[in-house]
Amino acid sequence: MDRKIKNNLKKKIFIKTFGCQMNEYDSNRIFDLTKKINYFPTTDKLHADCYVINTCHIREKATEKVFHDIGRVKKEYRKRKKPILIIAGCVAQAEGDLILKKEHYVDAVIGPQSYQKINEVIQEIENKKIKKELTNFETINKFDKLKLTINHSSKVSAFLTIQEGCDKFCKFCVVPYTRGPEYSRTLEEILKEADELIANGAKEITLLGQNVNAYNRNRKRLSDLINALNEKKDLKRIRYTTSHPKDMTDDLIDVHKHCKKLMPLLHLPVQSGSDKILKNMNRKHDISEYLEIIEKLKDINPKIKFASDFIIAYPGENENDFKNTCQLMKKVKFINSYSYVFSPRPGTPASELSLIDNSVAKKRLILFQNIADKIKHDYKKSLLGRNVNTLFENKVKSEDNKYFGRDEYNNPVIAYSKKDVIGEEKQVKINKFSHHTVYGEIIDTNEDLAA
Ligand code: SF4
Repeated sequence: MDRKIKNNLKKKIFIKTFGCQMNEYDSNRIFDLTKKINYFPTTDKLHADCYVINTCHIREKATEKVFHDIGRVKKEYRKRKKPILIIAGCVAQAEGDLILKKEHYVDAVIGPQSYQKINEVIQEIENKKIKKELTNFETINKFDKLKLTINHSSKVSAFLTIQEGCDKFCKFCVVPYTRGPEYSRTLEEILKEADELIANGAKEITLLGQNVNAYNRNRKRLSDLINALNEKKDLKRIRYTTSHPKDMTDDLIDVHKHCKKLMPLLHLPVQSGSDKILKNMNRKHDISEYLEIIEKLKDINPKIKFASDFIIAYPGENENDFKNTCQLMKKVKFINSYSYVFSPRPGTPASELSLIDNSVAKKRLILFQNIADKIKHDYKKSLLGRNVNTLFENKVKSEDNKYFGRDEYNNPVIAYSKKDVIGEEKQVKINKFSHHTVYGEIIDTNEDLAA
């Protein structure tokens, strides 16, 4: 076939995304970029011309799992035309050499700071069949290029990366090595992208960054950005994640008082309730500083609630340290918490430390999660009979007239409505709950809505 005609045919790109919301954002931006070279998103993973695995290094045994994923693609395409296979994300950054050396089926590895060059990479592979490795830290170049590409996300609840990388170097974490040093985008660039998202129907924007509250560019801080977004007429909700306690400055605490669109849930990772362990982790804050932030926020906004991350059985954690972590959980009553047993990430200082006996570690995790689950259960139960303000995002698949949304505290809500309520905020009276989700009826004067 004539090359020109062949190049004009629409091609399909499939992305399998692992990990955090930032990876989800990156995958969507890869879709936006590759449209320029005629590649269109597909959910059909068996008939893609380009197959991207966007990896996460936080996953346990992350590298092993990526090789496993590659093996699965090879098997799926054994009797089909081989797609261009690209490994992107943090594992590509950390293990790019190894992946290309061991897996000849892979055409390119692209780190999270280099995916702005994905179109050149795909075209070079198409034309010259060469292997590519792009794992430099070129954040400025990346966002310079991305700002020229419209964000086509059309979700009611959209993500917007405002900051990347981290300079904190917690001893257990790979982010400073895989995402590089802290970098903040300009306020103007972010607001322009927010306008694109709002024009596409976004009613909620979650500002993302590995250290989102370290945002700092041209003397503008996260509080300035939230205040500016608060003025956007068609935007109803603002969230930000993930924060570091050290960067919860007074100006940021203050926006929780007067910014009506900022949701009253703060995800503030603490990792441990023991000062000794926090010091060993190089977390740069202690428990009294952490609790001071919580108290300040509760004082200025009594509605606020908290979520957090915990590492159980970090090397050196004794029974007393663990007890302090449980006490912190009971004291703050986090409505959501993510906890896991410490597992070493290759290349981090903590990976050299001696592990706590596995049976002790597992026992502690179960004890901790029982406390966390009881708090969550009691909280969810307390919602019964109450009205929660819900922003509806989509229809529940295969269930007629059921809609999925989230309340102000990010709780998943499912409610019945005859009318399409996607993109609308409604009061929902809660009548049932499960571990994750609450269910209820839309309270509305419009009779068309309720059953
Ligand atoms: S602050 Fe967060 S991203 Fe940075 S090193 Fe610590 S855990 Fe990792």
